Amino acid sequence: MTNSNRRDFLKRSSVLAAGLCTALTDPSTVEAAADRPQNPDARFRYLGWQLGLSYQASRPEGRRPEELRQLLREMRDHGMNFISFMLVSYSFFDPEHDGFDWPVRREGLLSYRDERSLNAREETEFLGDVIQEAKEAGFHVQLMTNCGIWNPDRIIKGYPQTRPQVTWDDRRSGWVHCPDIPDGYRCVRDVILDALERYARRGVASYAIEYPGYAGSGCFCEATRTAFADETGRELTPQWARANRPEFDGWKQQHIGSILKRLVDEVHAQTPDVEIWLHTACTASGGRGHAPDPLRKAGITATMPYLMHSPSPDFSRLSKNVDACYPLPAVAHVCVRAKPFKNYAIPPKNPALISKFFDAVEQTRMENLAGLVFFNETNVPPENRRAVYDGVKRFV
Ligand SMILES: [Zn+2]
Repeated sequence: MTNSNRRDFLKRSSVLAAGLCTALTDPSTVEAAADRPQNPDARFRYLGWQLGLSYQASRPEGRRPEELRQLLREMRDHGMNFISFMLVSYSFFDPEHDGFDWPVRREGLLSYRDERSLNAREETEFLGDVIQEAKEAGFHVQLMTNCGIWNPDRIIKGYPQTRPQVTWDDRRSGWVHCPDIPDGYRCVRDVILDALERYARRGVASYAIEYPGYAGSGCFCEATRTAFADETGRELTPQWARANRPEFDGWKQQHIGSILKRLVDEVHAQTPDVEIWLHTACTASGGRGHAPDPLRKAGITATMPYLMHSPSPDFSRLSKNVDACYPLPAVAHVCVRAKPFKNYAIPPKNPALISKFFDAVEQTRMENLAGLVFFNETNVPPENRRAVYDGVKRFV
């Protein structure tokens, strides 16, 4: 089937199919996906959306299954092949939604479920079927949770010892929790294992996380200071860290790398075929403790650096975050939201800016750039959505 025939076929199908549930699982549609011509000159392996199931959604119950099926068809019509479902919301940024978006089973996680989220209730859970349909239609399906960004008042109900990180000047970070506290690590691990226990067999190809890592420039809580002392024989103080920045950054990268290795090993013991990707820009100055070599050794197979996150995107330096992840493949995370949110002054994006972004991508050599993922589909106005599809057209 040629490209244009396939597009016509999909358009006809979408008109004819009253219920997209049946259309996506229709054998002829699946056959069309399998028959999809691969363009050997295509620059990117992954093109798609990341979307919050409830995060920044306009309704308390979040996304509905029929919307996601419509989205999958729309994506296929525009040459996209990648979908990432974000399964947690934060009232810190979105007061209407807070907590996990699937019917968690592990005891520690139960109190952090978003009870208003449609997919979080066992009786109305729908994501498993959507994942399976997406997989059968040829999509790379990803799950995503920002492991460690939690509501401090709620997460302690299931993991009583978890605490937000401590900054240079002895202040608690708002919501980013420390991975050196055993309960913090256990919670990160339980979240991933719980989501994959339910969804991996339905067709999940990868799981993306944003943390563990350090917020700001490091954590100076007792657990981190103990880990540092055990591994280096030194005392960790903000004064020492300031005066010995490269050494401190090096320790953070090795230490977070070892935490990630343990995490990836535990996940792979349960689901060996699911890749683990990391949202990170890998820049030492960011201080998170992410660097390509330790990440590679930990078993992280791709990074998701941020593009268009800065207040006024500097397209002349577009490759900075992608280059910092080399040689790991980078599937860039591209914010195309139009409005800032509570506590989150993201620069508003409009079609002109999105079009400029695509111009810059076309003109910038980024050897390890393997794809583009646009965020957050759940809260993108129609004009920005069209601008994304217009831009993607240049690469398929
Ligand atoms: Zn700490």
